[in-house]
Order: sequence, then C-alpha cells, then structure tokens
Amino acid sequence: MACVSYSYAAPVSQTLFDRAAAVTPGGVNSPVRAFRAVGGTPRFMVSGDGPYLTDADGREYVDLVCSWGPMILGHSHPEVTAAVQAAVARGTSFGTPGEGEVELAEEIVARVAPVEQVRLVSSGTEATMSAIRLARGFTGRSKVIKFAGCYHGHVDALLAAAGSGVATFGLPDTPGVTGAQAGETLVLPYNDLEAVRAAFVAHPGEIACVITEASPGNMGVVPPLPGFNAGLKRLCADHGALYISDEVMTGFRVSRAGWYGLDGVEPDLMTFGKVMGGGFPAAAFGGRAEVMERLAPAGPVYQAGTLSGNPVATAAGVAQLRLLDDAAYGQLDAVSERLRAMVTEALSKEGVEHRVQAAGSMFSVFFTGDEVTDYEKAKAQEAFRFTAFFHSMLSQGVYLPPSAFEAWFVSTAHDERALERVAAALPGAARAAAEATE
Ligand code: PLP
Repeated sequence: MACVSYSYAAPVSQTLFDRAAAVTPGGVNSPVRAFRAVGGTPRFMVSGDGPYLTDADGREYVDLVCSWGPMILGHSHPEVTAAVQAAVARGTSFGTPGEGEVELAEEIVARVAPVEQVRLVSSGTEATMSAIRLARGFTGRSKVIKFAGCYHGHVDALLAAAGSGVATFGLPDTPGVTGAQAGETLVLPYNDLEAVRAAFVAHPGEIACVITEASPGNMGVVPPLPGFNAGLKRLCADHGALYISDEVMTGFRVSRAGWYGLDGVEPDLMTFGKVMGGGFPAAAFGGRAEVMERLAPAGPVYQAGTLSGNPVATAAGVAQLRLLDDAAYGQLDAVSERLRAMVTEALSKEGVEHRVQAAGSMFSVFFTGDEVTDYEKAKAQEAFRFTAFFHSMLSQGVYLPPSAFEAWFVSTAHDERALERVAAALPGAARAAAEATE
C-alpha cells in the first residue's frame, strides 16, 4: 500500500460504512466496493444524474465506473426512467411469461448474429454458470478451459485465477470451492493459443468448452491479440468443444453487437449482463438454437429462475438498448478517446511509466511501460501508483474504479463539462502517481 495519507473526510459515508460493517461482511455486498485495494472510506452514493454521482456527504463526482458498466446512457436517463416507472405501475413480478421478455430477447437476437435463442437470467454469474452447464450437457464432457485473469462471476468452477475482485485481493483461489468443483477447470495463460492446443491434446474428448472474456476487462483491459479468439473458435471446432464468449462486460457496450461486432468471431454460446439490464438485475446466455434447445423445458438440461425476465428489469433493458444506436457508440468512442489522450498527456508530463489499453470505449491505465497481454504482466504493474492516482482523483471529484485491475467506463452523458472536470483533476493525480512510493 502506498504511503499516502487520505485526509479528506467523508464523515457521513464513514458512519454508514461503520453501520454496514456491523451487519454485512466487510460492510459491502460486493468486495471491490470496500476500497480495500486503495484504502480509505468507500463513498456511499445517494443519487446519480447523467455523468455525476452524489455521495452521502453531498459531494459530486464525475462517474467513470458507471455501475461497472451498465449505466451507458448515464444515470437517471429520462427515457429509461419513464419505461421503468410505467413497468412498476403495471406490477413488479408475475412469475409468468410476459411481453417484455420477448422484446428483450428479440433485441438481443437482432443485434448479435450468432445468438439464435436466448435465456434470460438475473446476473452475469448465473449466465456463465448456466452456459457451462449447458455446454457440459450438450457435449457430455466435463472439463472447462478458462484463462487466468478472466472473471466470469463467482461460479465455483470459474473462480480459479479469476480477475476482478479476486485480482484486487490477490486471492489465488477461494476457500469454499472444493477440489472436485475446481478440478475440472483448466486455467491457462491468456493470449496463449499454444497452451490451449496442448490442453486439447492432453485431454482428448474431455473438454466441454473454452470460456473466455470476449475482450478481458477484469485484469484491467487486456484485448485479445489478433487471431486469438479466432484460434480458440477453430480449436474448439476441431476438438468437438464449445466456444463460449463471455460478453457480460463488453456486450452492447463496445458496439451494437458487443465485441462480436468488432471481431466477428462466431461463438457457440455467449453470455450477457450489465448494459442489457439498464441498471437492473438482468442477464442472459444464448447461442445456436441447436445448443440452446437442450435447455429445459425444450430439452433435458435444467435451468430456472423466480425473477428471470422480470418485467421491470426487461423494461429498463429494452429502453436502454433501443437508445443505443451507432451514433451513441460513436459518441462513446469519442469520449473514451479524449479521456485516454488526457490521461496519457498528464502522466507523460510527470514522467510516469504507463500504458492506456482500450477495447472499444472501455479502457484502463496500467502503471508499467510494457504492453499487458496477460494476467502475469497485469500483476507486474506498479499498482501503488494507482492508489495515489485514485485518491487524488477522488479528492478532486472524479470517481474511478477503486482498483488497478478494473476497466473505466464512460457514458453518452459524459459531456464537455464532465470532461473538463476530469482534465482539471488529472495533473494533480499524475503528480501524486509520480511521487508515490511503495
Ligand atoms: N462475466 C464478466 C466478464 C464480468 O465482468 C462479470 C462481472 O463483472 C460477470 C461475468 C459476473 O456478472 P455479475 O456480477 O452480474 O454476476
């Protein structure tokens, strides 16, 4: 941890955090929110408006986390809010099929060509867990290949060498996952096709699927090297395994059709979440009809959910997706490009070694001079510089992800005023990063 003192106070957030810690493990409902990687008091947010968040102490921040991706139109977008209010007024859950689910599924199928059928669930974790089960059911095989630094939610079999919070806390694994659950998972270095080829040779007829983040954002942003995803697809096809592309983070964020819209490699199964829920718990997995039809009640692979396809969540998701046209993605790319240039300029001016890596409009800043192509290289960065950088930005009203291993997200609401506020904060933050010591 850097030797930086964070003297700016957040008394109301601190009081809430103390109350939370008494009744909730670590005071939070998702570990990265606790600020453990950067220290200090997590900010309890009370409202969001466009590109801004306001905390319980009344401080406003430019939000570059966007709820970890979902808030792609900014907070409290009037059309999404109106759709949600109308849905709530009609009733919040029926436990029956409803038109909103059909509309959301149709929107996803229309955008993402490899998805012929889709099943709605409530979280990205559920989506990847169910996709793995389906792949095993479809192939009759048990082993799963995943990549170090890729996070697919807290599915038992997929927590080995995961990114995101697991990277933030430096956990190699987690207690509670049994050897049997993790034993069927082969963890390979990211961007290493040779390792995948060797695994297929070492386990003939045993590998059900390869799951990868379409373009990883959970060890920081580490895009696939040219040909990597296509190589995975080919190896899977050659060996009778399914290629699962996890687009929970990139889906509907980096283009109309997510990362698939940028690289065109056709997965057998895909997973979605975040943006498609418009800020509500909605996620999905989908793919070729031949595979999806193995799911109950059409087929024998069981999967279900009391709140799956919830009418409020689907209304939010449909409203948000319908606003996300090519112009919106062009705007997101432009905002991201400007921010990246601003960060690079500020850090370069202070002589701080860094790399800004992007996947579409998602990006992150690595405090290293080397290109980051896998988890080992991501971990080799000088994360203590991020800590100083983060707190300087926070104290100046810019809310970054509280970890060096997470992506930064922008929204269409990030306007000139918001960007100017970030620009004003960057020189001080870059200086803090330059002066930071381990
Ligand atoms: N897959 C990816 C690529 C993710 O980034 C995440 C969450 O960050 C998940 C799966 C899990 O989604 P959820 O947090 O909704 O369970």
